[in-house]
Amino acid sequence: MCGIFGYIGQGDAGQNILNGLKRLEYRGYDSWGVAVVSRDRQNGDSTIEVAKKVGSIGALEELKDLPKSNIGIGHTRWATHGGVTEVNAHPHYSTDHSFVLAQNGIVENYQELKKELAQKGYSFSTETDTEIIVRNVEFRLSQINNLKEAVRKAFLDLKGRNTIIVLSSEHNQVIAVRNGSPLVVGIGDGEYFFASDTLSFADKTDEVIYIDDKQMVEYKDGDLKLFDVENNKELKIKIRKLDHEDVSIDKEGFAHFMLKEIVDQKHTIREAIQYSEEEMEPIVNIIKNSRNIYTVGAGTASFAAGQIAYFLRKYAGVNAIELKSYEMESYKELFTENDLLIAVSQSGETADTIEAVELAKQKGAKIGSIVNMVGSTITRLSDFPYFLRSGPEICVVSTKAFTAMCSWGLLLALSVKGEAEKARKAINNLSEELDRHLNEDFFACVKKVTEKLLHHEHIFVLGRGQNYYLSLEAGLKLKETAYKHTEGFAAGELKHGVIALIEKGTPIFVLISEDNSKSDMLSAAAEVKARGAHLIGIATKENELFDDFIKTPEGDYADSIANIIPFHLLAYYLAVELGYNPDKPRNLAKSVTVK
Ligand code: GLU
Repeated sequence: MCGIFGYIGQGDAGQNILNGLKRLEYRGYDSWGVAVVSRDRQNGDSTIEVAKKVGSIGALEELKDLPKSNIGIGHTRWATHGGVTEVNAHPHYSTDHSFVLAQNGIVENYQELKKELAQKGYSFSTETDTEIIVRNVEFRLSQINNLKEAVRKAFLDLKGRNTIIVLSSEHNQVIAVRNGSPLVVGIGDGEYFFASDTLSFADKTDEVIYIDDKQMVEYKDGDLKLFDVENNKELKIKIRKLDHEDVSIDKEGFAHFMLKEIVDQKHTIREAIQYSEEEMEPIVNIIKNSRNIYTVGAGTASFAAGQIAYFLRKYAGVNAIELKSYEMESYKELFTENDLLIAVSQSGETADTIEAVELAKQKGAKIGSIVNMVGSTITRLSDFPYFLRSGPEICVVSTKAFTAMCSWGLLLALSVKGEAEKARKAINNLSEELDRHLNEDFFACVKKVTEKLLHHEHIFVLGRGQNYYLSLEAGLKLKETAYKHTEGFAAGELKHGVIALIEKGTPIFVLISEDNSKSDMLSAAAEVKARGAHLIGIATKENELFDDFIKTPEGDYADSIANIIPFHLLAYYLAVELGYNPDKPRNLAKSVTVK
């Protein structure tokens, strides 16, 4: 995962890199490091100075030992190989300190390479796979004596999805190579930003170069050049304009990004459906002409993919199936050129989902996508890209992106049926309802329930039909934010096994909509209550079975979408009560760019 940020310009490199890393911290935040080139004014010699820390990106104060410089690189890590220590934090020095290197990804063949390099006499001082790249560059450099060529050759030895950035003490030189993990270059006024996403420099410039897989970009003594990493051919640089409307990263008075983003949902569900009939037409046509529709995602996006497939089956009557993007091995045999795969991802950089897209593409399937980050890899691999337009989601745990994905899915399904207006009306009504609903009374009601969950180890959430995937997502929210073992289940599964887990006082949530699954849901509720469960209804209407009740707004086709919001708040309040940081849960990173 990790975030990479490089700076070359007139400004203070340390400060610019630190700002960039802060905006990239959602990609990983177990440790970080900054390297800058320092020039001796008297003899003109250059050295590279590095500062590394364990934990979240700190204040500028933490870089006080670094010299002022106009060129440098930084990294915020999400450890894959080697513990979270200062030694393992990036950037990593070459043995002679003539360059430093940072990596995003996993070197899948690091064991073989390490063996080969050890046989050649190289030694290792970290536990990372990154250091294998560093030593390999050194080895290549000993043969070629040209850093760019050595980096290129060393990169070609790597297996897996990797992006690397190298800073040299000579010439003002930064080299970055991409294969799989994202890389963009922002071009400001006499400034260059090498980064993992455009958001990290969107407050500085709106001019960007998207670096593709197997491309290498080099800044050297004032010149920026792009190359094909395989044959070293120079490529034409295409500068594009960023069309982000919302580039601000600000809590806007909320205590945490998570709370801000939960409240944002009253607007973001509406933004996600701002597509005219003409704009939806290409994907609607391909759905009508496809044999199977597969929706894929991982984590929260996989539950959104499930909900989108549900809407497509239920409202458009098409053969839509949700697949986990990390479980494609057997399914890939099914894809044909008559199929459509719709990739669902907040970042558009989820490695598992990119791989699923690539597999489907190889088999000739068409690719649609619904993504939040404009210009991301999945978008660029798609024949039919669509955007959530939710604005940056900074909290690592997804809230507003999920409901936006579901809202877009409803628009898609009803567009296929020729009834897009119904989706627009339902989502717009829900947005207005939420505006009224997300008030102090609602927050107080959720807080009251939070207190009853504080000391429970196991929590269950039951849903059915339109609420099934919502119950799974509810379970995930409480797991990842409050570290509570919470399982979402299909209510129908209950009597086939799960009911054995119910004891006196076990908290069970039931998600109930005013639809034809209501009576079955109430039966399930009665069955767990009869076994002593503490029953919490998440519903538009109160019921005497409920021990506690959180009222959710009515939303016609869309009311299940709002049923996740109480869980967003429960997860948030639980995390705060238990002393966890809801914006940065342990062990997680937002954009899962490793497999
Ligand atoms: N594999 C590298 C490490 O564990 C990079 C991980 C990342 O992408 O943050 O240090």
